[in-house]
Amino acid sequence: MSIKQFPLSKAQLAELVSRYPTPFYLYDEAAIRENARRITRAFSVFPAYLQHFAVKALPNPFILKILANEGFGADCASLPELLLADLAGIKGEAVMFTSNETPAHEYQKARELGAVINLDDLSHIEFLEQNAGIPELISCRYNPGPLKGGNAIIGKPEEAKYGFTREQIIEGFKQLKAKGVRRFALHTMVASNELNLDYHIETARILFELAVEIRDKTSVRLEFVNLGGGVGIPYRPEDEALDYETLAAGVKKVYDEIIAPAGLDPLGIHTEWGRVVTGPYGWLVTTAIHRKSIYREYIGLDSCMADLMRPALYGAYHHISVSGKENAPATETYDVVGSLCENNDKFAIQRRLPPIDIGDFVLIHDAGAHGRAMGFNYNGKLRCGELLLRSDASIIPIRRSETPEDYFATLDLAALKRFDPC
Ligand SMILES: *Cc1c(COP(=O)(O)O)cnc(C)c1O
Repeated sequence: MSIKQFPLSKAQLAELVSRYPTPFYLYDEAAIRENARRITRAFSVFPAYLQHFAVKALPNPFILKILANEGFGADCASLPELLLADLAGIKGEAVMFTSNETPAHEYQKARELGAVINLDDLSHIEFLEQNAGIPELISCRYNPGPLKGGNAIIGKPEEAKYGFTREQIIEGFKQLKAKGVRRFALHTMVASNELNLDYHIETARILFELAVEIRDKTSVRLEFVNLGGGVGIPYRPEDEALDYETLAAGVKKVYDEIIAPAGLDPLGIHTEWGRVVTGPYGWLVTTAIHRKSIYREYIGLDSCMADLMRPALYGAYHHISVSGKENAPATETYDVVGSLCENNDKFAIQRRLPPIDIGDFVLIHDAGAHGRAMGFNYNGKLRCGELLLRSDASIIPIRRSETPEDYFATLDLAALKRFDPC
């Protein structure tokens, strides 16, 4: 069971909406900090631990500043994400640059900022050398593919575009060593929204075994391994959250079995979690503006999939509650929909909910990661802003809503006036 709560009462929310009209995202700073501390505490069983928050999950520098203040670094995959981490004061090796199909100028920026470059392919060694130079510390991303005697739970990495094969990664470390690299790290990322503990522990085992093989075959002693992201959250009330302490203890057990006897202790443990860090602590706050009875009953919101596309994209479940009606019986069956001209613009399909009146505040839960971040402007839809509920209970805007001027900002309207299509 996971409890689905919203931090404001209906009266508090009504007062907030009088200042900041819906739709907007609301993030809970105290809950994010509490969660970050629980993660750090659980992983303190390792001699050295660092969490690089996956910026793509919630690319807002205010949030990054809070996480940096809790000791987190950042995981970036593009030039703007590198700039966001920099804006939030996350510097140097606290930044992991895990990119793929990387343009030269992005490698150059990562080098300039001193981020840990995590190479996605053997051919990128030469690409990096020619375009940005080889740094002293470098990481390589491993794709375990159809692991020999592998475990059934690790889906199908062999169909994923990421990382080096096992043979390539051995070769890669040899080449990097020959080019003067002195500090090395190993990374993988093979999960997404995975709530199964064993899956994550098995990932650690695979990396630890590979760390020993790398030492044996190349004499490279790794400084740290990065276990990637992909820890799931309980989107459904009946789902159970993954317990950090059990996870860290499980990984530590494998560490003690493999790393210590091989003489590789201390080995740094890094992770790059996104979803589980902020996901449960963000809500998309909307207002019901229409009710429609045709072949089904529809509730139309003042938001749409431009603000949160996970339901439309993946058929993902997001819990929905109605402010002030938390304990009302769910007597109705609705499709809760947005305004985009796409029939899959539905936040919920045939969902049992209490009767919803026009003007009700409809809360979409667990939207704090891969939420607004995935938004887009198709159909001329403008993305909503973001508010932060601070630990002292004040609420501040951390991103305004988009305006039509933002939508037109990439057009040269003076050139349009001069443009004569005849
Ligand atoms: C998306 C991503 C993450 C974060 O994934 P979560 O599922 O949000 O934890 C971490 N690392 C890489 C390389 C990613 O692409």
